[in-house]
Amino acid sequence: MTTIRSVEILHVDLPPPVPRSDAIQSFVTQETPFVRIRMADGSEGTGYSYTIGTGGSSVVALLRDHLAPRLIGRDPARVEQIWRELLFATHATSVGAITSLALCAIDTALWDWRCCRDGQPLWRAAGGAQASVPVYTTEGGWLHLSPDELVRQSVEAQSQGFKGAKVKVGKPRLAEDRARLRAVREAVGDGFEIMVDANQCFTLGEALRRAPHYAELAIGWFEEPLPADDLEGHRRLAAQATLPIAVGESLYSPGQFGDYVRAQACHIVQVDVARVGGITPWLKVAHLAECCNLAVAPHFLMELHVSLTTAVPNGAWLEYIPQLDAVASSRVQIADGRAVPPETPGLGIAWDWPEIERRSKARHVIN
Ligand code: MG
Repeated sequence: MTTIRSVEILHVDLPPPVPRSDAIQSFVTQETPFVRIRMADGSEGTGYSYTIGTGGSSVVALLRDHLAPRLIGRDPARVEQIWRELLFATHATSVGAITSLALCAIDTALWDWRCCRDGQPLWRAAGGAQASVPVYTTEGGWLHLSPDELVRQSVEAQSQGFKGAKVKVGKPRLAEDRARLRAVREAVGDGFEIMVDANQCFTLGEALRRAPHYAELAIGWFEEPLPADDLEGHRRLAAQATLPIAVGESLYSPGQFGDYVRAQACHIVQVDVARVGGITPWLKVAHLAECCNLAVAPHFLMELHVSLTTAVPNGAWLEYIPQLDAVASSRVQIADGRAVPPETPGLGIAWDWPEIERRSKARHVIN
């Protein structure tokens, strides 16, 4: 048995390659805390997490001051034990986004180490259920884009082989949302999925009013229609809507997903590996969904989710938003609109360490 000898924490900002906007926010930069855990026997694992523009320095501070020191001398194979103990050690700040995002950086590093130790790619080590998953793109559906630009990018995505595209909704007037979606539907035809995403901007009344208009255009799902803490609102909407309700990118613990599933308040589970606290809790949520015959279509982080959606039998879609190209030489492999998980041992992301170190605005070593 080896033990954890040191933890290095780096903080990198990755600007988005294109402007990204939705009904409540803009994607400013991907704040990316990296964690490198080094063992006494010389082996190591790398993990990471993210925010879309605020809170990254707080994640790094929590890692540096409270979480990383608790890892020194521990057995890195005790992944479940470490996750649980770190959660309890930070009980005063959990459940919460900052804590979950910090836990993810450590948990993904431990999974990376374990997979490398066993010579296994993540998708096989975590289950190996599917050889590939269909991909849809969000990169051409941002709210600030004109209808003409939405149509152009959706048609282009379709010609590139994508199986679907997500279009942001939440324009002040329903007629505007409807006109934008109708233009896209008429351009791509019926053989291409269109999903919509409101980013929590509606009241229950407004979501109930708009849902039939989206359903009329055969929309694949209605994502984050309401504030994430409005469980009862989601339950009532899910009971009445005639299109699937998708929820999960703003939930931060397996227990919160349990609440949604028990209440039958969503149809598509969009668990985000960073925001839920890492691979360990991500798999619990995916298996919970499987037990309840619910599909998983995770939010963002395609470079990691390609291995997780293929690990589980109910992984239904991968969301295409490339974000690591500046700091990794590997690319998500897509053939005929389906993503194929990497076969390299570990997380399957080939980090460009000189570039990460060049971009780092903070570096801490705990030992
Ligand atoms: Mg979303």
